[in-house]
Amino acid sequence: MVYQGIKGTHDLYGAEADAYTYIQNVFSAVAELYGYRKIETPILEYTEVFDRSTGESSDVVRKEMYTFLDKGDRSLTLRPEGTAGVIRSIVEHKLYATGDLPIKAFYVGPVFRYERPQLGRYRQFIQAGVEAVGVDSARLDAECICLAMKVLAYLGFENLKVKVNTLGDETSRKNYKEALRSFFASKIDSMCEDCKQRLLLNPMRILDCKVKEDQEIASLAPKMKDYLSDEASKRFYQTLSILADQEIDYEIDDSLVRGLDYYGQIVFEVHAMSKEGKDYGALLGGGHYDGMMSNFNGPKENDSGVGFAMGVERLYSLMKDNGMLENLEYGVDLYLMPIGEEVMDDCYSLAESLRDAGYSVEMPFVKGKLGTLFKKAVRAGAKFALIAGEDDLNNGAVQVKNLATQEQKSVLVEDLQDYLDEQFESLEAHSSCSCGHDHDEGHCCCGEHEEEGHCCCGRHREDQEEGGHCCCQKDEK
Ligand code: AMP
Repeated sequence: MVYQGIKGTHDLYGAEADAYTYIQNVFSAVAELYGYRKIETPILEYTEVFDRSTGESSDVVRKEMYTFLDKGDRSLTLRPEGTAGVIRSIVEHKLYATGDLPIKAFYVGPVFRYERPQLGRYRQFIQAGVEAVGVDSARLDAECICLAMKVLAYLGFENLKVKVNTLGDETSRKNYKEALRSFFASKIDSMCEDCKQRLLLNPMRILDCKVKEDQEIASLAPKMKDYLSDEASKRFYQTLSILADQEIDYEIDDSLVRGLDYYGQIVFEVHAMSKEGKDYGALLGGGHYDGMMSNFNGPKENDSGVGFAMGVERLYSLMKDNGMLENLEYGVDLYLMPIGEEVMDDCYSLAESLRDAGYSVEMPFVKGKLGTLFKKAVRAGAKFALIAGEDDLNNGAVQVKNLATQEQKSVLVEDLQDYLDEQFESLEAHSSCSCGHDHDEGHCCCGEHEEEGHCCCGRHREDQEEGGHCCCQKDEK
């Protein structure tokens, strides 16, 4: 019997794993541009961590958590989202005590939800998210949305739908919930069982129901905007005006309430459709929250935060379906081909020295015909094949073949590194960067061709600082 992975989980390998790494690298680089630092919290937490924060009325807590008793009879849960663990950690380690607020943290890692697997919906999936905690500011809320949009822009997404709504402050929510309770009271008998529960626990959650008939009823429900306090309304429009200044095209969606209980004030989601019109659901979602640290018995002052989480699987599927990953080049730099058993040991040493020089090198470990080796070199994504026959090596040389142009040249082993450095430098100048951006067009490092002045990959900026050639080929410093 061949074992299969658990339903709703998936394995990652090869080009797909490389693409996931690329997405996560772009995300991390952009988070760092905004001053966020990495945080890693355990995948396992006490169940209470999620019960307390995520909220008893959220579907995630009520139905979707992977919860079990450990051998010491403690109730543990595989994290269903990232925020609760981050806040638990901030409070436990008193990260707020330095007074350097907000604490800005980003994370990437697996989360687990017992949902029905379908397109874009897994039971184990990866979330990349940020949290900025300890400052209550409409500007910080806006910055969080700008950060999210920059990640998507750097990944190459266009035509995104940014939905925003406000859940107001506590008073606004209290009044709104009362209005919803009276509106739904006469209709709830015909609605789904979940909505009946939601009416008791948190009637705002009904607005998020996925049942079509319930959605029709909910569309007639009172709107949050009519119950917003002046202050909450002012704050919402302050964030929106910053988004407009930054040319972020949003739409207000008053049915957007988000699935987790801790949100207040602004909430947002970003959606994208594939070219074929496939809706992958939200690429990311987030919002402002208050009272999270005190929920964990942390400080009551400065107890606000804002964050979002994006689903890496959804980003990947959309990027793949829309050909956005095609420019990514993966594979080794060099494929070393020992011709005959006699030269295997010399080749082994040569491969090690080339790796020390910074080249990625692959070589076969069993004998193979030249034609087969070339096929392997191409499959390994190598740019150059190094053909090492006994005669060549006896003369202190190897044949270097450019696999794109098929040009071949005999190069002395002692000159090999210089020769390869030269070859790769000219390749870099002519091709787009491995970050996926075409430096000839946008994201130029020289600062004259793009406002930001450097690419999220960081590479070309370094080149420029070292006084090297600009990748755009227009300026030489
Ligand atoms: P949430 O924590 O529910 O706000 O989700 C944040 C993001 O995680 C969503 O916008 C999706 O991109 C992603 N996501 C949520 N649930 C799933 C799932 N079951 N499978 C894959 N991605 C998901």
